[in-house]
Amino acid sequence: MLEKMEILDVEIVIEEFEAMTKDAGSVQRETLKKILEENACAEYLQNLGLNGRTDPESFKACVPLVTHKDLEPYIQRITDGDSSPILTGKPITTISLSSGTTQGKPKFVPFNDELMETTLQIYRTSYAFRNREFPVGKGKALQFIYSSKQSKTKGGLFAGTATTNVFRNSQFKNAMQAIQSQCCSPDEVIFGPDFHQSLYCHLLCGLIFREEIQLVSSTFAHSIVLAFRTFEQVWEELCADIREGILSSRITFPSVRSAMAKLLKPNPELADLIHKKCTALSNWYGLIPELFPNVKYIYGIMTGSMEPYLKKLRHYAGDLPLLSADYGSSEGWIGANIDPNLPPESASYAVLPNIGYFEFIPLNENVEEHVQDKVNASFLSAEPKPVGLTEVKVGEEYEIIMTSFAGLYRYRLGDVVKVMGFHNSTPELKFVCRRNLMLTINIDKNTEKDLQLAVEEAAKLIAGEKMEVVDFSSHVDVSTDPGHYVIFWEISGEVSDEVLKECCNCLDRSFVDAGYISSRKVNAIGPLELRVVWRGTFQKILDHYLGLGAALSQFKTPRCVGPTNNKVLQILCGNVAKSYFSTAF
Ligand code: AMP
Repeated sequence: MLEKMEILDVEIVIEEFEAMTKDAGSVQRETLKKILEENACAEYLQNLGLNGRTDPESFKACVPLVTHKDLEPYIQRITDGDSSPILTGKPITTISLSSGTTQGKPKFVPFNDELMETTLQIYRTSYAFRNREFPVGKGKALQFIYSSKQSKTKGGLFAGTATTNVFRNSQFKNAMQAIQSQCCSPDEVIFGPDFHQSLYCHLLCGLIFREEIQLVSSTFAHSIVLAFRTFEQVWEELCADIREGILSSRITFPSVRSAMAKLLKPNPELADLIHKKCTALSNWYGLIPELFPNVKYIYGIMTGSMEPYLKKLRHYAGDLPLLSADYGSSEGWIGANIDPNLPPESASYAVLPNIGYFEFIPLNENVEEHVQDKVNASFLSAEPKPVGLTEVKVGEEYEIIMTSFAGLYRYRLGDVVKVMGFHNSTPELKFVCRRNLMLTINIDKNTEKDLQLAVEEAAKLIAGEKMEVVDFSSHVDVSTDPGHYVIFWEISGEVSDEVLKECCNCLDRSFVDAGYISSRKVNAIGPLELRVVWRGTFQKILDHYLGLGAALSQFKTPRCVGPTNNKVLQILCGNVAKSYFSTAF
């Protein structure tokens, strides 16, 4: 009975969501009022002359649009231990480290109980819609989740990645139980100090509980693909552990070893079964349902920079549905995936109007402003004019601005979204790209999505040889005259020079942006260069980020490496096995 009561009543969650989204405009006004009232004594707001006003008009008139850089001095004081109300009414005691993929180093952002509550609200909302279509039974989840290194700031605040802060929160476990997604691995594995060891143990736990596993998930899809790529390497060792009931010596941390020892018992039948299943598979197709016969779906963020992993994920998933998780950031959540039937490529996210106050900078108008600004050479003087949540237009693209319960006011997150439609009166957003992740030299403009499409096209040429692009990145090389695009590929095996030359030409031709093509034709942009890197190069990039305090759970491969990210650039450039220049133009 108790267990039954602990499970979330999805109909109530959906009812609440429906009611709230029918009135998104007034919920937004109320939310802004609440944020401003709760934080009225914060120094940041006090200095802006709101004088107790909480309406959107006064808010927009008094509070400037900011980037992370503008807030750094305030955040620095908080991390240094100043507990006066700086950005929030209540002092901040925990800091999140955003993945920092774009800049190359993690950013510090405040984390608090309100942010935790919005996280849980997002989890509950998408689960409610998901479970209506794909009900999970009693059981467990194989979750590839990892904590980052725990650290303390100079002022003694806890600092970890946002996901780590969520996993460590006392409410996390109950919440996971309520949405029937309890992780099958013990805490020692999730919080283990070495992700290679944790990954191995997650796999082992999954196999031990194979009949009970209802879903396979991670925060971002990359971790799931990495897990099963690893499985291909270590499956025999996993079988040996299960057969003997003795954990591999590769697991060295005593806390992890003793937690695993409680679960691992000699089970030769299970070892034989897994061995048989693995050897019967063709190129690991359908591995996940074969290993976990009761899995209902695969779950994790699959849009944006995760899309390139979908092909491999589908390969492992066989017929199982892939469901994209929600849309948010270390700074705060934005929307939930309430239409789980859509394939990840078409997934959009309905904004929850009570988790923050949202504004949107229309990008079409802004392009003109941008050009005008360049002419006036006063780029930053023209303030873009954002619109409110219910004023966005279907089909248009916007840069998203958030005001959160955790001390961010009119904060430019840096993401570009497209409005796909409305659910009641709240918009459904598709993630388009990071705004500053752009390949540009001259009048060309290619986004992460354009790069992904070009890579997909060119990768078809090596698919014929049963090879795949394991991961990729790019860089604008302006050290040559003219500058040119450099695309880095890690490939699963050997491919002939002829085919790679063709891939290079194909990449060059696949950037269909008019500015790129015309610049290439007149040689204002030089021939595209394809650099094939050694196997394991992208693992080195991952290790580099983990060393900086990032966590595997939140890792996103940097798709476009800028000049400020010199360590990643060094790793890529230092591991080039072969390079090719395009002759396509
Ligand atoms: P982090 O820096 O680790 O907090 O990551 C937050 C960023 O990840 C967001 O600003 C987005 O760029 C990206 N992101 C988060 N959720 C999604 C999603 N559902 N689809 C695409 N990109 C996402």
